[in-house]
Amino acid sequence: MKWETVIGLETHAQLNTRSKMFSAAATAFGAAPNTQACAVDIALPGVLPVANREAVAKAVRFGLAIGGNINRRSIFARKNYFYPDLPKGYQISQYEMPIVQGGAIGIYVNGKEKSVHLTRAHLEEDAGKSLHEGFHDFTGIDLNRAGTPLLEIVSEPDMRSAQEAVAYAKALHALVRWIDICDGNMQEGSFRCDANVSVRPAGSDRLGTRCEIKNLNSFRFLERAIEFEVKRQIEILEDGGKVVQETRLYDANKDETRSMRIKEEAHDYRYFPDPDLLPLSVSESWIREIEREMPELPETKRSRYVLERGIAPSVALQLTASRDKAEFFERSLGATNLVLFPKIAEDIANSTITSIAGMANLDGLEFSQIPITPQQHGKLRERVADGTISSKIAKEILDAMWAGEGDPDAIIAKRGLKQISDSGELERICDEVIGANPSQVADYKGGKEKAFNSLVGQVMKLTKGKANPQQVTEILKRKLSG
Ligand code: ADP
Ligand code: MG
Repeated sequence: MKWETVIGLETHAQLNTRSKMFSAAATAFGAAPNTQACAVDIALPGVLPVANREAVAKAVRFGLAIGGNINRRSIFARKNYFYPDLPKGYQISQYEMPIVQGGAIGIYVNGKEKSVHLTRAHLEEDAGKSLHEGFHDFTGIDLNRAGTPLLEIVSEPDMRSAQEAVAYAKALHALVRWIDICDGNMQEGSFRCDANVSVRPAGSDRLGTRCEIKNLNSFRFLERAIEFEVKRQIEILEDGGKVVQETRLYDANKDETRSMRIKEEAHDYRYFPDPDLLPLSVSESWIREIEREMPELPETKRSRYVLERGIAPSVALQLTASRDKAEFFERSLGATNLVLFPKIAEDIANSTITSIAGMANLDGLEFSQIPITPQQHGKLRERVADGTISSKIAKEILDAMWAGEGDPDAIIAKRGLKQISDSGELERICDEVIGANPSQVADYKGGKEKAFNSLVGQVMKLTKGKANPQQVTEILKRKLSG
C-alpha cells in the first residue's frame, strides 16, 4: 500500500511590539525573571486589559501581505485552562471571529511552485514560563512572557511532505521578518511551529487521524519530527492498528516523538467572548494607511527581477530570501552604469548570492551587517565588466574590501592590479614564455592540449593574474600556429 502524508501547520509568531498585547509592560527578551510583569500580566483583581494598537496593525499588515481577508470586526475570546504559568486561568485569544481569514503563501520545492492556503491568523497573548533548570523539588515561574503578543497563523492541511512543510515554514519566517512584524528569532521562541501530521492511502480524499507535534523551534527539528511521525503512523496502520489523535512532543536527543496528552477539544476550553474587551474594529482608512506603508513584497520583487533584469527565477528566489539581501542587490545595481553595461544585473545577482552571501555566512553576519557597502560592490563588478580587472583579481579586491580597505578603485590603484590592456606588453611576455618552454611548445604542436594550458598558466603567473586569459589564449594560439 502507498501512503500519502498530509500536514497542516500552526505557527506562533511573536509580534515585535515594545509593549504587551493588553498591558504597557515591556516585551524585551532576557530580563531578570518577573521584572517585566505588571498588575495586568499577573492578574491582580480589578485590572482591565487594553488592546495594543501596534499589535493589531501588525496583524493587519500580515493579512494584507498574504492576500487574506481582514475582518473589520473581530472578537477577543477567553480560552480557559489551568496551568501554573497562566495566572488569570485563561488566555485571551480569538476564536470564532479572528482578525485575518484566508490568504496563501507560495513555496518552491524541487523547482516547482505551490500555494499553501491559510485558514486564519489570530491575535492572542502568550503565557508565562515554568522554569525547571536550577531548581530542586520545585518549579520556578517567570511571568515576563505572560501577555506577549502573538499572531497564531494556521495553514490548511495543504502540505504533502516534510520538505514542503519546511519550505512553508521558511517562507512564512522570511515573510514575517520582511514585513517587520516578528524578529523571527527561533532560539528565543519568537517563531515556533506545531505540526499536525496524518497519513492516508494514496488516492484517498478523506483525511486520516492526525497527531499534533508541539513547539518545534528549528527547521531541522520540524523536518525530523514529521519524518519520524509519518513512519510511526504508517507502521501502526500497516500493523492493522489505529492512530490515536493526540498531542506529541519531539525529543531532539532521541530523534523521536512521544505522547504528551490526549488531544483536547475546543469545548474543553470553554471559549466565550471576553467581556472586558470590546469587539476589535479596524477602519477602512486605517487598513489603507497600513497598506501604503507596506514594503514591496518578495513576490513582486522576484517578478520584477526576472522581467526587468533578465535574472533566472531560481536566482531571484535566493536574492529575495531576506529584505536586506534584496536591498543589497538593488543598491549594488544602482551604483553601476546600466546603459553601458546592461548585462551587469545578472553578474551582480550571482556575486550577491555566491561571493557576498558566502563571506557573510562564514563570518556569521546578516546582510545588514557586512563590512562593505553595496555601492563598493557595484563598482567592483563594474570594473570587471569594463575590463579594468579580471574576475580572478576581483576576488582579491573583494577580500581587501572586506578587510576594510575601502573603495575598489583605490585598492586597484594602490596595489597596481589593473588588467594588462597593453597588447604589446602581453605579446612580449608570451614570447618570453614560448622561448623558455621549448618542450611544452613541442608537446602542444604534437597534439597535447594540456601543454597549452600550462603555457597560459605561466603567462598568468608572470602577470600576477592581471592578464585577460582570453587575450592570452588568442595571442599564444596565433604565435604557435605559425
Ligand atoms: P486545533 O489543532 O486547534 O484543534 P484545527 O482543528 O483547526 O485546530 O487544526 C489545526 C491544524 O491542523 C490546521 O493547520 C489544519 O490544517 C491541520 N489539520 C487538520 N486536520 C488534519 C489532518 N487530518 N491531517 C493533517 N493536518 C490536519
Ligand atoms: Mg492545534
